[in-house]
Amino acid sequence: MNYIGISKYDTANGPGVRVSLFVSGCTLRCKGCFNPESWPFDAGLPFTEETENEILNALDNRWVAGFSLLGGDPFEPEHEAALLHLLKRIRAELPGKTVWAWTGRVYDRVKGSPLLDFIDVLVDGPFVEKLKTTKKGEWRGSTNQRVIEIRPLQK
Ligand code: SF4
Repeated sequence: MNYIGISKYDTANGPGVRVSLFVSGCTLRCKGCFNPESWPFDAGLPFTEETENEILNALDNRWVAGFSLLGGDPFEPEHEAALLHLLKRIRAELPGKTVWAWTGRVYDRVKGSPLLDFIDVLVDGPFVEKLKTTKKGEWRGSTNQRVIEIRPLQK
């Protein structure tokens, strides 16, 4: 898996200050996508053990509320093994941090994914240009997308 960026002080993707990872690779090609440079799977840099440690270290600060996973699309099957490893570590080593994730797929298409066992909130669905929203605190790009609390669904 490659990634196109890490933000260690992100206040735009989920509540509070967050550490965000933007993975490379998306096959969905939404019209008007905010991040088409993330579409190629070989964009950016390889995600290594050092990258994982960098994320864990950045998360381990009291002012950081949690981790946000964006793309690209983190739910591309190619990403599953690497992200599962990362999310398991976050849950085991920093259990107080919330985990949010964004996908261009609807929840029904990803609900069998093992990644969801380690995600608190999922923002789902493709970006639809004519439904675009820029409202602060909605955490979504278009109004068809849903902010779904996954953790209560798992209980
Ligand atoms: S899912 Fe996200 S990254 Fe992929 S094309 Fe749609 S808006 Fe762009």
